[in-house]
Amino acid sequence: EDMVDVLGVRFHRVTMGQAIEKILYWVQDGSHHMVVTAGPEFVMQCLADESLQELVNSADLVTADGIGVVWAAARKGRPVPERVTGVELVVSVLQEAHIRKQPLRVFILGAAQASLEACLDALRVRFPDIEFAGRNGYFTAQEVDSVVTQVRDFAPNLFLVGMGQPRQEQFIRDVLGRLQPCVAIGIGGSIDVWGG
Ligand code: UDP
Repeated sequence: EDMVDVLGVRFHRVTMGQAIEKILYWVQDGSHHMVVTAGPEFVMQCLADESLQELVNSADLVTADGIGVVWAAARKGRPVPERVTGVELVVSVLQEAHIRKQPLRVFILGAAQASLEACLDALRVRFPDIEFAGRNGYFTAQEVDSVVTQVRDFAPNLFLVGMGQPRQEQFIRDVLGRLQPCVAIGIGGSIDVWGG
């Protein structure tokens, strides 16, 4: 595949449009997929944590979520076409599914309750054909099973986890196999952006 290594993290050299197409294909291909958007800070975290680096490099898609990553890739002579941030990527996927009337069930896990509810309200108004459900991102290790059950019961084909990096990526790794086929994306603080 067409990738560039930046300090041990393998980035996919995709445009926003290509990333959207991959995700809209994966949400209906019957298997599990993980998407990571990684900026310079996250690359540094991966440099300090080998298991995190392995986890990221096992993802189906890793996009350059920061101009520092775009510059670093260019300096290696293998530029990424553009910056692909988590917030923009996910909104564009929802927008495109909405335009194409492609069925989408989206579970949003993360943020504080008020922020999550405001986010769900805003997205339901903007994308009335898309099914949304969610849960806040504050739960104990003992509650993980009930969170997984809640997600399973909804059966999303797009699972957005906004609990901060690297917690959200580690959570996705731990639970993805227990869910129906879906695309899981770590979305950082996006829920607060959409809900605010
Ligand atoms: N968060 C969460 N559960 C936690 C810790 C954080 O749901 O246990 C949420 C927090 O409310 C915020 C997001 O995770 O919405 C973290 O956003 P931040 O911008 O710090 O993440 P980054 O984009 O840096 O990964």
